[in-house]
Amino acid sequence: MRSDFLEQIATLDVVCLAGGVGGAKLAEGLAQVVPPERLTVIVNTGDDFQHLGLTVCPDLDTVLYTLGGVANPETGWGRVGESWKTIKETDRLGGAAWFKLGDLDLATHLVRSQLLAEGQTLTAVTRHLCIHFDIQVQLLPMSDQPAPTMIASEEELLPFQIWFVRERWQPAVREVCLPQDVRATPQVMHALEYADIVVLAPSNPFVSIDPILHAYPIREMIMDLPRAVVAVSPIIGGKAVKGPAAKMMAELGMSASSKSVARYYGELIDGFIYDQQDAGQCDNLACSTLISDTLMVDAKSRVRLATELLQFALSIAE
Ligand code: GDP
Ligand code: CA
Repeated sequence: MRSDFLEQIATLDVVCLAGGVGGAKLAEGLAQVVPPERLTVIVNTGDDFQHLGLTVCPDLDTVLYTLGGVANPETGWGRVGESWKTIKETDRLGGAAWFKLGDLDLATHLVRSQLLAEGQTLTAVTRHLCIHFDIQVQLLPMSDQPAPTMIASEEELLPFQIWFVRERWQPAVREVCLPQDVRATPQVMHALEYADIVVLAPSNPFVSIDPILHAYPIREMIMDLPRAVVAVSPIIGGKAVKGPAAKMMAELGMSASSKSVARYYGELIDGFIYDQQDAGQCDNLACSTLISDTLMVDAKSRVRLATELLQFALSIAE
């Protein structure tokens, strides 16, 4: 049964849409089950920003470090075994130190910024970094254009990282503002064209998944897919595992629940996986549902959830 399943999976192309922490964990689980040449992870770049003269791509780096086996498991961002000499000295010299950049992490931003300055695309730079982290899975930014997400609070319009990190996502969100005219890359469109299964990772629906869907024509291509589109809920027991997803839901006028996430994705998805803690909550949805243990606490639970997800997707596609 298991070898049958692995044989079947080996013939399918899987595309996963991911933000940072939640996305990276599921992407890593998928990477253990799907052959690398058949797995593409499309990552949100709405969080990217210029800081201390460098281009920082927080979600790409979280996925990069997780797939490369060098992520810091405690923070969910940055690298394991990190040191902080440079940022401390930056602070002392009066530089902006509210965004923590470790010494190892800085090397990524230096190399990326240099290659971008030489005229390479973010897609090419990401491939370069993947080679050096020995990652075989195809990791793609959603767009090569800057696509900065802005947060409209009651008082003002804030760049995403100012709201998220400097203001610790405390200002209430009135609206998430995504830029117009962002285009997906040819590599992203190619991956979606051949995708048998599309996965929406348990990432923040508003500031991680939406910006990806908003890069034309990603949403349209996923809508038109003949095969299964499956989302995993980032909400467990009415709460986000980490970050502002549940708080944002309340502020945007919906109940903080898995059901709201499924409704929010609406017709885009064919299948929805949500946590056993919320069992029964999504009984009356239009799409297929699977109840599981969706908290990915270690490598084993990531692989288990990824395997269940693929089996579920196959059952929907049949
Ligand atoms: P960020 O860019 O680092 O904020 O990352 P994402 O948007 O990818 O992930 C944040 C979301 O992941 C939050 O809404 C969390 O609730 C969710 N999340 C994190 N870990 C897990 C997990 O183990 N299981 C599930 N179901 N959701 C998770
Ligand atoms: Ca993020």
